[in-house]
Amino acid sequence: KLKIGTLGLPNVGKSTLFNAMAQQSIAQAANFPFCTIDPNVTPIAMPDLYLEELGKLGKSIKTVPATIEWVDVAGLAKGAHRGEGLGNRFLGTLRECRALCHLTRAFEDESVVHVDGKVDPVGDIEAIALELLLADQAHVERRLERGDKVPEEERTVLEQVASGLALGKPARSLQLTKEEQLHIRGMGLLTLKPVIHAFNVDECDYLLDREATLERIQSEIVSKLEFFDPTTDVWTIVSAKVESEMVSKSPEELAVYLESLGVEEDFDRKLLSYHQLPQLVAHVLGLKLIYTGPGVPPERSQTTKAHLLSGPLTAEGLAGRIHGEIESGFIKAEVISAANLLEHGTYNAAKDTGSIRMEGREYQLENNDVVCIKWK
Ligand code: GDP
Repeated sequence: KLKIGTLGLPNVGKSTLFNAMAQQSIAQAANFPFCTIDPNVTPIAMPDLYLEELGKLGKSIKTVPATIEWVDVAGLAKGAHRGEGLGNRFLGTLRECRALCHLTRAFEDESVVHVDGKVDPVGDIEAIALELLLADQAHVERRLERGDKVPEEERTVLEQVASGLALGKPARSLQLTKEEQLHIRGMGLLTLKPVIHAFNVDECDYLLDREATLERIQSEIVSKLEFFDPTTDVWTIVSAKVESEMVSKSPEELAVYLESLGVEEDFDRKLLSYHQLPQLVAHVLGLKLIYTGPGVPPERSQTTKAHLLSGPLTAEGLAGRIHGEIESGFIKAEVISAANLLEHGTYNAAKDTGSIRMEGREYQLENNDVVCIKWK
């Protein structure tokens, strides 16, 4: 499961934003799987250009989108690294996440209390980033105290990380090689994870004054962040308020709301966080979407499914993920890009023009491949 940890002080709009995004997932994907009952985990369907169309082409009964789970670690506050409050448990949850999404309040609203009494985005972010750094420092120290019990390769990397952290450098800014990162993978270091900063801005700024708002956030906040690493981290603006209006209002009410702000009703909805945030996750983690279902005779596969890959995967590896029997009986994989298949209208038409390739076990899957595995 792909988990993203969501960070942020209380009252910055986390639940408003992620609940609204989850509801938009449900509206978009008819068979959105509610895979969890944990109130702190919000599953969000990956917005998908091809899935529904591929489902129609394959005459599937259902389509299943890929999902990203957003894990709320609301307990993270100053002092978390010392285990104050429920700090430690929350840090443990965060260590299992692949990336962190840090939501920061950048809207002014007298009626919403800021935990420290003022809106200070740079200070808020640095306080949490420092907690993560201190937590990693303690975590690494504890591991190094075990001395010879820690494999030498791991110890060497950890010592390098420890000196970096002591200088205030997050682990992701130390330019560790892939191999070095592999040695310390089990540690789940928080400062090694890419960070997606989302700034919750005023609804009017968000909808009507985007360019200027982006420039302002860049110059007033992002450029002043000590812990922002442009080689791994990204940032964007969001509006929790707009996002929740989108799901809570009827179309008529929505039209009135948008008009009251002076927004055209046919504005580009792809600019909403529901589209933007999962795309940023895909970007920072180098994720690929691949599809299975079309091409399998209808009586055998009634589901068109999107899969998220977070690393290299071969056709054989995919077979193994679907079923052990499909892996051991693997004969070949039929592969075509989603866009190319949709252009043909039907799977057989694509086959007739020779557009579907035959690939072997070792074939490396590519983004937007539609894969049909033949097995015995
Ligand atoms: P969380 O503690 O970070 O999960 O914050 P919530 O989502 O519970 O939001 C805290 C309060 O701020 C609620 O009263 C929200 O209605 C309000 N709020 C959240 N996002 C916005 C926003 O974008 N604009 C305004 N004006 N209020 C917001």
